[in-house]
Amino acid sequence: MSFPSSLNAYSGYKANERPSEFMLDEYTYEIAEVADRWYEPEAIYFRVRTTEGKRYILPYDESEDEWSLQSGFDAEELLARPGIRLVTVDADVIRRAEEEIESCEHCNPDGAEIPFDNILDRVTCSDPSVTDYVLESAARCPNCRRPGSGKDFDQPR
Ligand SMILES: [Zn+2]
Repeated sequence: MSFPSSLNAYSGYKANERPSEFMLDEYTYEIAEVADRWYEPEAIYFRVRTTEGKRYILPYDESEDEWSLQSGFDAEELLARPGIRLVTVDADVIRRAEEEIESCEHCNPDGAEIPFDNILDRVTCSDPSVTDYVLESAARCPNCRRPGSGKDFDQPR
């Protein structure tokens, strides 16, 4: 299984060394221990345990100088996660997003169907498929001033 995201484990691996950490979605996993190591024609496999006590298998393709993450052990949760980026949204950005809003599901039940995330995607110029938001405060509908639940706004045409 090839790995979609950046697994910049340990470029320039040498025969007697071992991987010390790998990075995934900008998070660094420190390797506490190489529990096992075996050789296959296509790669050297390292079964490692991180400092957080998780177990992963990291194949290293020597000819390509490329690490990947094998499914199995605790890798499933990492492989299941498509690399979501969490963006903290402060009050300033919330205000700018509110300016894009005309009404909400409370005051316009039939017209409000734009998820607030979509509005934030545009205001913050983020890629909708990989971005989640952490809001510092709730956005309010400028029409009725009720806080939105996040899925229920309408925009002016
Ligand atoms: Zn409203």
